[in-house]
Amino acid sequence: MTFRIIFLGTGGGRHTTAFQVRSTGGMLIEHDGRFIHVDPGPGALTQMHRIHYDPAQTESVIISHSHPDHYSDAESVIEGMTYGGWEKRGHLYGSPTVLEGAGNLGPCISPYHRGLPEGCTVFMPGDVLDIDGIRVDIHKAKHSDPTNVGFTFHTPHGKVSYVSDTEFTEEIARQYIGTRVLILPTTTPRGNRIKYHMCTDDAVEFERIVKPELAVFVHLGVVIIRAGADSEAKHVEDSTGVRTIAARDRMILDVGESLSVSEAPCFDDEWIPPSSV
Ligand SMILES: [Zn+2]
Ligand SMILES: [Zn+2]
Repeated sequence: MTFRIIFLGTGGGRHTTAFQVRSTGGMLIEHDGRFIHVDPGPGALTQMHRIHYDPAQTESVIISHSHPDHYSDAESVIEGMTYGGWEKRGHLYGSPTVLEGAGNLGPCISPYHRGLPEGCTVFMPGDVLDIDGIRVDIHKAKHSDPTNVGFTFHTPHGKVSYVSDTEFTEEIARQYIGTRVLILPTTTPRGNRIKYHMCTDDAVEFERIVKPELAVFVHLGVVIIRAGADSEAKHVEDSTGVRTIAARDRMILDVGESLSVSEAPCFDDEWIPPSSV
């Protein structure tokens, strides 16, 4: 079984998103030729076009929480997954604010779009889901959307976790002990902690607790991009002994016996996906 992550976006936070300094399109997970799209924020559609990925291949869409850098392309992604809404297929997963709305947050997906896939699941921390044959554990987060969660995917080559937006606490980090690959939203650089997010100093603490084989920074804000995300990752690697890299848009991570990083081919043409003709 293959398990591959294609990073459609590596930016996060309001300013990176508004200016698209980095794309904020989330991740495509490919396993045995099947695809899951996690957090399709702004840029997801553009990046899928650029790598010639047909969204009709997507079988599940997962949305962690109700902030636009995680969901705003989702309705179009759902239309792509369902052949323009003509065929009921695929599954949509989201937190309560994403799918139902709570207080002044969400819902982020219209009732019409929620009805396009075959199924729709609201998740909560503690849930264990079967998503297209992969066991996925849902974890607690501490974020300004209180329903946000993190994820651990059980692959045949170890656990791969996506923490999603959260503040650092020891309790939150401990949920990920045993994970092989830790995808860590690191929004700001050293000495620059902002509420409900993690900075490089938090990444050091997080990785010391989890001790993964590889940590990957995503959700990069404009200040860490300006400071140099690669040098911030190197600082964490030097401080923890954990291999740490800052992801780049369209980076591919293959999780097999070994972990390998490459880049998706990128095109700038008028490609039309097979499913639309
Ligand atoms: Zn975010
Ligand atoms: Zn958020």
